Amino acid sequence: MEIIIGKTAGFCFGVENAVSKTNKLLNENNNMFCLGELIHNKQVTKELEKKGLIMIENIEQAKGNVIIRAHGTEKKNYNKAMNMGLKVIDLTCPKVIKIHKIAEEYVSNGYYIFLIGNRSHPETIGTISYCGNNAYIIEHEEDIKKALKNLYISKIKKLLILSQTTFSLDKFNKFVNLIREDTKDKDIQLEIKKTICDTTRLRQEETKEISSKVDVMIIIGGKHSSNTNKLYEIAKKNCTNSILIEDYKQLDLKEIKNYKKIGIMSGASTPKKSIESVVEILNKLC
Ligand code: SF4
Repeated sequence: MEIIIGKTAGFCFGVENAVSKTNKLLNENNNMFCLGELIHNKQVTKELEKKGLIMIENIEQAKGNVIIRAHGTEKKNYNKAMNMGLKVIDLTCPKVIKIHKIAEEYVSNGYYIFLIGNRSHPETIGTISYCGNNAYIIEHEEDIKKALKNLYISKIKKLLILSQTTFSLDKFNKFVNLIREDTKDKDIQLEIKKTICDTTRLRQEETKEISSKVDVMIIIGGKHSSNTNKLYEIAKKNCTNSILIEDYKQLDLKEIKNYKKIGIMSGASTPKKSIESVVEILNKLC
């Protein structure tokens, strides 16, 4: 049995930063409040909860302090935190902050904004709050028609396209081409910012490469993790035997035994030790 592990597997920079700083804070404080799940990985968040992390749905539930996770949050939450006198520990990934800044700059220059991303993802919910009133989220191809209709009704002639950091690169390119095609005769000034983060891009490229040469591709990560699900979608296209697991206990070892070449990749919120435990169990099978 040959096992190929993705070089880019494991925590990304933003998640590593959020987890290590939160751990440090929990060593110094009894309780820390975090707005939403710190990262989309149950094992990691459970450990942090044991150390005193309290994950809350609304900022109103915080007492004394609040951590803003790597995905960032809505603009209004910073004002609320200030009014409540909370100490804000902002662990928003710098790459997400950069998108917020781009959005604000273009809003002030009168642009309409299309944000390509998963509508219900916390990062998208946060980013759209920086995009002003003339903005539309495009999650699926079907959304493009409605987005363009709104743009044309608004009579705004400048359009910026942004992306959620963990969106699929292939889909982003496809959507941009469709928008470009529709706007080309309409005197619209089009600005495209491919704000998919490098870590995500490299992971997706590596997943594509590995999954096209293995018998089974194992993607390790949280079921709610956007980037993990994207990796799974990519892997499935090249390797129909691809599976998505949260930890080694979900592996069907009887099934895996039948394969000679196994590929492994993880989402950006998956710690190294989850990958190691999968590798360990596979090595025992060999
Ligand atoms: S995936 Fe990229 S943007 Fe998101 S937290 Fe990680 S490094 Fe930051």
